[in-house]
Amino acid sequence: MEAEAFDLIVFGGGKAGKTLAMDQAKAGKRVAMVERGLIGGSCINVACIPSKALIRSAELHALAGDGSAYGSPAEVGLDMAAVAGRTAAVVAEMVATNRKGFEASGLDLVLGWGKFVAPRVIEVATDAGPRRLTAPAIYLNLGTVADVPAIPGLAAAEPMTHVEALRLETLPDRLIVLGGGYIGLELGQAFRKLGAEVLIIEQGPQIAAREDTDIAEAMTTALRGDGIGFAVSAKVTEVSGLSGEQVTVTFEDGSCHSGSHLLVAAGRRPMTSGIGLELAGVELDARGLVKTDPQLRTTAEGIWALGEIAGTPMFTHASLDDYRVIKSRMTGGDRTTTGRMIPYCVFIDPELARVGLNEKEAAKLGIAYRRVTLPMDVVPRARTLGERKGFMKALIGDDDRILGFAMLGAQAGEVMTAVHMAMLGGLPYTTVRDAIIAHPTLAEGLGMLFAVQPAKP
Ligand SMILES: Cc1cc2nc3c(=O)[nH]c(=O)nc-3n(C[C@H](O)[C@H](O)[C@H](O)COP(=O)(O)OP(=O)(O)OC[C@H]3O[C@@H](n4cnc5c(N)ncnc54)[C@H](O)[C@@H]3O)c2cc1C
Repeated sequence: MEAEAFDLIVFGGGKAGKTLAMDQAKAGKRVAMVERGLIGGSCINVACIPSKALIRSAELHALAGDGSAYGSPAEVGLDMAAVAGRTAAVVAEMVATNRKGFEASGLDLVLGWGKFVAPRVIEVATDAGPRRLTAPAIYLNLGTVADVPAIPGLAAAEPMTHVEALRLETLPDRLIVLGGGYIGLELGQAFRKLGAEVLIIEQGPQIAAREDTDIAEAMTTALRGDGIGFAVSAKVTEVSGLSGEQVTVTFEDGSCHSGSHLLVAAGRRPMTSGIGLELAGVELDARGLVKTDPQLRTTAEGIWALGEIAGTPMFTHASLDDYRVIKSRMTGGDRTTTGRMIPYCVFIDPELARVGLNEKEAAKLGIAYRRVTLPMDVVPRARTLGERKGFMKALIGDDDRILGFAMLGAQAGEVMTAVHMAMLGGLPYTTVRDAIIAHPTLAEGLGMLFAVQPAKP
């Protein structure tokens, strides 16, 4: 079969890839984008967007249930099929917007499973039969999928991943979540707020492993306050039963816990095996990630990798920045992945937002800092909202610049972005402290935070 020639192929339509594909197609290049079926990538279809839509339903359900505290007592019911329907509708709308964008750009969307069959030739199993595509430049943006650890009985128990959990039309009675990372925490709390009994199992000594201990402890306290159970430093040795019916996990010490549903959120696996990357000369590291340089070049001439498979932090905005790195090279710029400041949020209640260094990272790098903290409880807007949980913390360097910021509290992501901008601008913390900030906003807490006398840890 003769390969169809393109100027550029994007293999996998994640955030970075689809943005690049549209950009280059609009610029008049002949572009093919190979995608197994998630129009718009994981974020829109099975990850960020449906999870945040579900979380919104869960928040409203919990708030309405607490309505008497706000002077609106009412009986609150739950229509889980409607929750799933709303989530699906939000997804469908975004998929339609993406599809329109693809069409308008003029790119050739090739739907089907792709694999390399020769150094720069990709074969795609489309519904209409196989198609072979070739181009002098190929961009891999294949993403990751939920990993199912090799625990005896786990695969046979047919656990849900985020994909199935986000489509549930009935509420699990007793949900067991394997993994205390951000996906497990977000989904675990959402189902708890909707009324499920939830146990989160984490094999490490704390949930949210990369966070400072004070943050992880405050998260645990808040989640426990919602009624979520935790098993931390807990190793599951065996699973029996079937998720959706009755499932039992057995711990190393012989104790057991049973639930109706099991959700696996215990890490992600790159989509790099079984697709002929070795034929293309693309080398992988021990974790299966594509080896790249700071400009995202792989070991194969004319092939780049973007997003999670390139080891980019697992966030949509980080994947988008990989597109910018590629675009920069195309236009003679020098943007790289080195030293990027990548903020992130964990959309639990209270929300976690982080940018720059935390204390663990500063200590590891041997960077000296002073610290300021402020409980959210003293921020006037937090009181009017009834969102008093959490705290803010900032690390300040010897030159008075802000090295890092963390907030656990309502709208943390929005508040963090103000600090992020100050950090990008290299402003001293005193500029934020002395700014006139509108009252009563949650960001007003930043003025209060930076008015605290910074102290060595
Ligand atoms: C439950 C959940 C919630 C999340 N929430 C957030 C959040 O709130 N904020 C945030 O920033 N990030 C969040 N993330 C992470 C975010 O979804 C990813 O980091 C983001 O989608 C970027 O991924 P990517 O660009 O690397 O690839 P992806 O978006 O995963 O795209 C890769 C694409 O390649 C396709 N593909 C793979 N192999 C093949 C093949 N052989 N042939 C054809 N097509 C193929 C896939 O179908 C997929 O569409 C969440 C993730 C999960 C799982």
